[in-house]
Amino acid sequence: MKYLSTRDNSLKKSFNEILYQGLSKDGGLYLPVEWPNIDIHNLENKSYEDVALEIIFPFVKENFSKGELQNILNESYSTFSHEKKAPVKELQTNKYILELIYGPTYAFKDYALQFLGKLFSYSLIKNPKKITVLGATSGDTGSAAIHAFKTNQDINVFILHPHGKVSPMQQKQMTTVNEENIFNIAIEGNFDDCQKIVKTLFIDDEIQNKTSLTAINSINWARLIAQVVYYFWSHLQIKNKDINFIVPSGNFGNIFSAYVAKKMGLPINRLHVATNKNDILKSIITHGQMNKKIVSQTFSPSMDIQISSNFERQMFESFDRDSNQVNNAFNEFNKTGSYQFSSSVIDNFKKIYDASSINDDETLDTISKIFKKYNYISDPHTATGFKLLMDKNDDETWVSLACAHPAKFNTAVEKAIGKATDIPIELSNLFDKKENMTILPNNIQEVKNYLLQNI
Ligand SMILES: *Cc1c(COP(=O)(O)O)cnc(C)c1O
Repeated sequence: MKYLSTRDNSLKKSFNEILYQGLSKDGGLYLPVEWPNIDIHNLENKSYEDVALEIIFPFVKENFSKGELQNILNESYSTFSHEKKAPVKELQTNKYILELIYGPTYAFKDYALQFLGKLFSYSLIKNPKKITVLGATSGDTGSAAIHAFKTNQDINVFILHPHGKVSPMQQKQMTTVNEENIFNIAIEGNFDDCQKIVKTLFIDDEIQNKTSLTAINSINWARLIAQVVYYFWSHLQIKNKDINFIVPSGNFGNIFSAYVAKKMGLPINRLHVATNKNDILKSIITHGQMNKKIVSQTFSPSMDIQISSNFERQMFESFDRDSNQVNNAFNEFNKTGSYQFSSSVIDNFKKIYDASSINDDETLDTISKIFKKYNYISDPHTATGFKLLMDKNDDETWVSLACAHPAKFNTAVEKAIGKATDIPIELSNLFDKKENMTILPNNIQEVKNYLLQNI
């Protein structure tokens, strides 16, 4: 499989060449030149890891043997605490939850980042070098990445999070890992500020000359392919139905993986983008308006994003893979702060996606209703999707994704249902541990200096 860039569709990179890179030099994101086709019948009665093997292998086969990939996958998911890894649970007829909370840091990010960690380790054995992981997090990616890379001394990890804007549990999960290769940076700004700093440093020559910078944000293609697996896995558990998926969304990584699954042959009916008050995705999909907006803080911090990086991949697809149009759109967006998609492109978005957004009150109300009706405690991100799941009243099959364990967001849970949820022992142990982080201003030069001093 070769890879092109959303801003240069003539590019033909190998998987190894894009593995450590987030952005292409032209500023675009990588996509495969074509979609492999998967015959679902060949996946039946296989384990999660073996299903993953069939789905991921076509994307990596020039650089990893099937045996290597099998080992990588077995190691990636060995620590997950549910035998099914990503179980589908039935709430009522035709309404299901896909639970993605059984990895080491209790959010869906583990499904991709544990894989990425092992993939890097195998790759570094074959081609030894020191690499620097640089990422921005709205809370869950950071801890998942830190836990995936903490034992690999060939990899230094710098994670930027918005200071004071992640949940206390999310912060503890990141800052209590006392390893020499882990650097937590709290930026005095919001997530979009963190993401912007990271993107700028990725194309900074001085840094590139000193180290091999590696992206672990959801713009990294390898993360997206690991996420494709659980959409197929849901189908295998529910069987014989055109499924509609509801995906709580921020950076558009998780739901884009569902789109990839659809392209690879999974019978998906519609994809529903659920957001909190930060509703840029809703305004793009329903009206074609991409405007720069201010980020609001909500009970679902991992979705407090107004610039959804992975949406560029969908733009490229909806522009019929014409990278000129992607370039033009971003030139205009960067100049004026807004871009209006044409009606034919909006129609294309709408053929695939629906979108909705709910505010904090509705989030709490949904957590409370779900608890009363099903005795199920959902986290606030998951609730943005569950609101829709509750409202659905048709004969179709709906699967809503549970993206994080509610114990990570107990303040909101307690407000909603009057009590906190039980905290898994691995999380409650964190409260006594010493935190390590460096607070820096929202300033690219200062972060760059810190990086140069510490790599
Ligand atoms: C990251 C995250 C999201 C958003 O996922 P994207 O891939 O960025 O769209 C939603 N919920 C939780 C709990 C998350 O950690």
